[in-house]
Amino acid sequence: MRKSFLLMLAMIFLLSLQGNVFSENTPKIKLGSDLLLSKYQHVIEGKNIGLITNQTGVNSEGKHILNVLSEYPKVNLKAVYTPEHGLDGKAKAGAYVESYTHPTLNIPVYSLYGKTRMPSNEMLQDIDVLIFDIQDIGARTYTYISTLNYFIIATKQNNKSIIVLDRPNPLSGEIVDGPVLEERFQTFVGVDILPMAHGMTIGELAHYFNRKIGGDLTVIPMEGYSRSMVFQDTGLTWIPSSPNIPDLASVMGYMATGLGEGTGIVQKDKFKWIGGKGLNPVQFAEMLNSAKLPGVSFTPEEKDGWGGVRLDITDPHLFNPAKTGIYALAYAHTLNPFEVPISKDTVVMFDKIMGTNKIGQYLIAGLSPQEIEAKYGEDLNRFKEERKKFLIYGQTTPVQPKVRKVQLEGGLSIHNKSYVPLKSVLQEFGYQIGWLPVTKQVYAEKPGKKIVIETVMSPMKVWVNGTEIKSKDIVPMIKEGTTFIPAQFIPWIEKSQQKTVGNQIQIHSTNLDIVVGIPVKQPFPKKESGKIAYLTFDDGPSSITPQVLDVLKENGVKATFFVIGRNIKGHESVLKRAVAEGHAIGGHSYSHNYEVIYHDVDAFFKDIEKGQEVIEQVIGKKTTIFRFPGGSNNTVSKKTQDPKVYSQGKWIMSDLVKEAQSRGYHYYDWNVSIGDASAQGYTPESALMRVQEGITSKKDLVILSHDSTPKMNTVKALPNIIKLLKDEGYSFGTLDREVEGFAFIR
Ligand code: ZN
Repeated sequence: MRKSFLLMLAMIFLLSLQGNVFSENTPKIKLGSDLLLSKYQHVIEGKNIGLITNQTGVNSEGKHILNVLSEYPKVNLKAVYTPEHGLDGKAKAGAYVESYTHPTLNIPVYSLYGKTRMPSNEMLQDIDVLIFDIQDIGARTYTYISTLNYFIIATKQNNKSIIVLDRPNPLSGEIVDGPVLEERFQTFVGVDILPMAHGMTIGELAHYFNRKIGGDLTVIPMEGYSRSMVFQDTGLTWIPSSPNIPDLASVMGYMATGLGEGTGIVQKDKFKWIGGKGLNPVQFAEMLNSAKLPGVSFTPEEKDGWGGVRLDITDPHLFNPAKTGIYALAYAHTLNPFEVPISKDTVVMFDKIMGTNKIGQYLIAGLSPQEIEAKYGEDLNRFKEERKKFLIYGQTTPVQPKVRKVQLEGGLSIHNKSYVPLKSVLQEFGYQIGWLPVTKQVYAEKPGKKIVIETVMSPMKVWVNGTEIKSKDIVPMIKEGTTFIPAQFIPWIEKSQQKTVGNQIQIHSTNLDIVVGIPVKQPFPKKESGKIAYLTFDDGPSSITPQVLDVLKENGVKATFFVIGRNIKGHESVLKRAVAEGHAIGGHSYSHNYEVIYHDVDAFFKDIEKGQEVIEQVIGKKTTIFRFPGGSNNTVSKKTQDPKVYSQGKWIMSDLVKEAQSRGYHYYDWNVSIGDASAQGYTPESALMRVQEGITSKKDLVILSHDSTPKMNTVKALPNIIKLLKDEGYSFGTLDREVEGFAFIR
C-alpha cells in the first residue's frame, strides 16, 4: 500500500510539472474522512477504535485514514479489519487473505475475507467504535458493501457502534438499474435487496442496510457532494479499488461486461471489453449500437480469437452500466445462444450475481433485453421508492447534511449548571419514553438502543444497552412533575456536544441541533434600593406565632415560616392564617430530632417528607422548600450520622444536600441570626444589634429567628428590627424557589 501510494504521489508530482493536474485534481468535495477530525471528532475521542479499511481509505489530500487515526492522540486505534483483496488491495478476487500483526503499529490486522467474513466477538472485544472507510464502486456484487453489512450486524450483536465515513458512488447517485435481488438469493455477492446498480453512497447504503439491523450507526456525510456527480466531477484521485478495477473505465465497465459468469460471455481487459467464443464482433457491435444505450458506443474487436466489443464511455453521466450489461448478455444470446447455467440444489454463480434465477429463464425463453427490463421494472420501482428514505444527498445542488433544528423551552440553570427536560430531549433523539412504576424507572427506547434511568437514587443510575454509566454527576432535578437532567448527560448516551450560551443550552449531533431555552427568571420584585430582607421563623407554629403574625401585619411585612411537622397539630388555624396573610411556609422536618434525622439519608427524607405532608394537609398546597434543623452545615450531624456509612471525612450533609436537590427541594440557610437559638442570653436589644451588624456588608439578608414557645424576646425585638431594616432601605420578601443563594453547602 505504501509503495503504491508513494508511486502515486510521484506520478502526481511528475504530472504537475507538465501542467494542469492540480487544477484538475483539486477536490471539490469533502469526504467523511476529511470531516471526521475537523467537525465530528467528539464521536470518537477517548474511544478504542477499530478501523475497517483498505488502500482506498485515503482522504482528499491523499492521507490514509490508518495514518490519520494512528497519529491522532485522542483515540486509541486497537485493530484493523480488511475486506476482500486485503489491506493493500492486491489479493486477487476471491483469494483467501490471512490475518496478521501490523508491522509498525503492532495491532492486529484481521482479514474478513479469510477464515471468516463475519467479525467474531473476540475481534471486537477491545473496541468501542468501528470506523468504516472504503471506496465502493456502486455495484451490488462488489463485496466491500457486503463487509460493511456484516460489520453493522456484528456491532449490533456486540453492542458496539459503527461510523461510516461517506464517499461518493463513482457512478453517481442517480443510476439505479438492473434486476433486484430476491431474498432467497442473498449471498456475499448480494447481501440485501438491491438492484444491480443501487445508486447510493456507502453511507446511504449503510442506512439502508441498517433498516433491518437497527445497529448504532453514524454516517459522517460528505460536504459539497450532490448525487448527480460522477467520480470525475469530485476532483478526487481514483485509487485502484481492486486489482481489476485500476481506473474509472473499469469502474464503469464492471457491470456492463461482468454479468456473464458461467455463460462463456466474458469480460476482458479489466471490464473494458465483452465477448465470447464464436461471437460475430461486427453484428454484436451493430446490435448494441442500434439499441442507443445512453452514454456508450461499441467498437467491434477480436480478442484472443474471440468476438466481442470494446466499450467507449462517451458520457459518464448518462452511461447506465447495469442496463448495458443486460443488453450485452441478451444480444450475445440472440446471436449465439449459449447454455445458461441453472440453479438446482446449489445456486449457480450466474444467479448469485443476478440476485435471481429469473434472468436466466428469460434468456432461455429468448426474451429481448427490452422485455427483460420490463420484467424487472416493477421490483426496481419498488426499490427506488424504498431507497428514498435512506438518501442523504440532493439531486443537483450540493447540500449540507440534513440537520434537523429543534427549539425547545424549559431548560434550567441552577448554580451555574444547565439542566434539560429529560423526556422532550430524548424524544427528539427518537426515543419512546416510558415509566415503570414498580421499579420507579424511566426507560427510553429506540431501535438498537435501550436506556434505563433510575431517578429515585442520587446520583441516579443509568444503563445504556444494559451497561451502567458510572458518574456521580448525574443528579436529576424534579420540578413540577418534570424530570430534568444535567445537559452534560446527553453526550453520554447520544453522540453529541453540548454547551450553554447565554440563555440557551445547545446540543449538536450529526443530524440534530437542539436548542433548549432557559427562561429568563422573573426578577424578584425589588424596590428602588434593591435590598431585600427575608425574615424567617423556625420551629413553630406555637402559641407565640399569632403574636409574630400580628407584628408582621401591623408593619405590612411578609416573612417565611419553617415549621416543625409535629408542632402543627393544634395550630392548624395559625398556619392557615399565615398563608392567608401572604407569608411563605416551608418545612423544618417532622421530629426535629437530630439523632433520628441525621443518622442516614433515608431517615432524613422520611422525616422531612412526613413534615411536608402535614403542611400540605393543612394549607392545601405542597411546599418544596425547607430548612435543615441546625442549617446545612450543622456539625451535630457528625456525631449522629451512621458511623458504618460515614467516617473519615465523609459527611452525611453532603449526601443530604445532593439528595434534596435531586428530589426537587430548595433548602435555605441564613446569613444573619438574631441569636435566639438558645433560650437564654438574648434580649430584644441584642437581637437588634445582631441584625445591625449583619447589615454592614450584606445586600440581601436572610434573618434567622424562632417562633417557638419561649421566644418572647423575639416578638419584642421584631418591631424594632423591622423599623431598622426599613430605615436602611430594605424591602421584605418571602423565600421561595425563585430565590437562590442562601445555602451553606451546595
Ligand atoms: Zn430548628
